[in-house]
Amino acid sequence: MYNTLEHQIHMARQMVTDHSRIVCLLGVGMRIESGIPNPEGNDIVYYMEEEYGYAPEEIFAASYFYTRPGSFYKAYKDVYLGRDYEPSAAYYRLADLEKQGKLSGCVTQAEYSLAKKAGVWNVVELHGSIYENWCPKCKRRYTKEYLRDQKGTPLCEECKMTIRPGIVLRGEQVRNDYITNAANMISNADMMMVLGTNMNDGLVVWAMNYFRGNCVLEISKNSHFSDNRASLAINAPVVEVLPQIT
Ligand SMILES: [Zn+2]
Repeated sequence: MYNTLEHQIHMARQMVTDHSRIVCLLGVGMRIESGIPNPEGNDIVYYMEEEYGYAPEEIFAASYFYTRPGSFYKAYKDVYLGRDYEPSAAYYRLADLEKQGKLSGCVTQAEYSLAKKAGVWNVVELHGSIYENWCPKCKRRYTKEYLRDQKGTPLCEECKMTIRPGIVLRGEQVRNDYITNAANMISNADMMMVLGTNMNDGLVVWAMNYFRGNCVLEISKNSHFSDNRASLAINAPVVEVLPQIT
């Protein structure tokens, strides 16, 4: 019985019941379940090489953006702004948990603001968001739609400066205040949920340095050698498990 999915879900539901300061780490599996391609998947790497002659990490890099903004924006609009993605049902369960006062917040490296879109209020987006762009000179904010609809390189209406996309580019640091917010949230948590990734993920390893509790629930479709570092690891899609335990 111990290893059946049914029993694991029963245990996970009990964990959620017993804790009230849950912090969720949202991994790449969460966004894949919302239909967003894996940024490190072979499909996207192959597509970028074919279409633009560079790998994603070469184009979506600070050095590329500052030296070739036109080419950068061509690829950025295509890959990041080409489609609107809607949060999977799992994100809405997180919003419900937060409303119930059980979820302290979420930490993610995804740039699509899916948790916020689903109504989660406290989300630390370590790698920024495609929705929050700004002029580097006058700091005026620009929407994703404004960037997408501008012909060529999107420029500030006032200063004609190239608008800065809201995501952290390769070679850039994560904002210090974001790191501090995430670390504070995690160190005050009494339970961690690792969703759509495994315990060996860089974000998760980092977060565990701050976590002082002992209850870690991992939900990830794929099993991984690090699963035994969680109190309980359920190898099933988050979108299927979360509604059953919250
Ligand atoms: Zn400006």
